[in-house]
Amino acid sequence: MHPEFDSFFQMIRFSLDTKASIMLGTNMSLITEERAKMLLSCGLNELHFNLDGASKEQYEETKCGLNFETICNNILKFLELNGEEDCPTKVICNVLSKNRYWHEAYGEEWNPEDDTWKVIERMNTYPNVFVQIPGVGFWQTPKNEREEKTDWCVGILSREMFYQINIDQEGIVFPCCQDYHTQISFGNFNEQTVEEIWNGEKRLKFIELLFNRQYKEIGDPCLHCRSPQPNR
Ligand code: SF4
Repeated sequence: MHPEFDSFFQMIRFSLDTKASIMLGTNMSLITEERAKMLLSCGLNELHFNLDGASKEQYEETKCGLNFETICNNILKFLELNGEEDCPTKVICNVLSKNRYWHEAYGEEWNPEDDTWKVIERMNTYPNVFVQIPGVGFWQTPKNEREEKTDWCVGILSREMFYQINIDQEGIVFPCCQDYHTQISFGNFNEQTVEEIWNGEKRLKFIELLFNRQYKEIGDPCLHCRSPQPNR
C-alpha cells in the first residue's frame, strides 16, 4: 500500500463528484481499524476482497505472504464498523478455490483439498456482504500462448471506458482491470485533475484505437487481451 494511501484516498473522494461511486479492491492486510474508520467516514461505496480459504493452511497456501488471522480480523472489524455506523458500503467477497483456478486457468483437473465452501457459508451470514464466484483471470495464460486480439474490446462494448476511472496505488490512471500492471497510463492523479486525465489526449487516442481495433498500435495488455465478449 502506498505510504500516503490515507491522504490519497481522501483526495480522491474530495476530487470526485459526490455522486461518483468509489470502489476499493484490497487484500485487507492493511485495512486496520483506524483505516477502516477513515474509509467509512469518507463514504467508500464498495469494498472488494478475496478470501480463498477458510483455514490458515488453505488461505496462506493461495495467498503467499499474507497472514490469515490478520486478514480475518481486519475483515471482521470492517464489517462490524460498517454495520455499527450504518454506513452504506457494499462489501463484495470474491471466492476462488484452488481447483477451480487450476481448471479454468490451465484446463487441467486438479483436486486439492478445498474449504472455500466454508467461506461462502460464513460470509453469507452477513447481510452487508455479497459473495461472488468470479471467473478466473484469463490473463494468467502466458502471453506467448495467446493469439493476438482481433475482436472487440469488452470495455468498449460494456461502456466501462465511459463511466469508470481506474486508479492504482501510485495514482496512475489505467484503462481496465485487465491492465493490472498498469502498462497503459492516461496520467497520474497526483499531478493532474480528473478532468485533465479524462479528456486528455492519451485517453482519447486510446479509445479511438480501441474503436478501430488497432491493438498492435496499442500494444499490451490489449494486444493479447483475452477478455470475453459481453452479452450484447
Ligand atoms: S485490456 Fe484493452 S482490449 Fe482488453 S478489455 Fe482492457 S481495454 Fe479492452
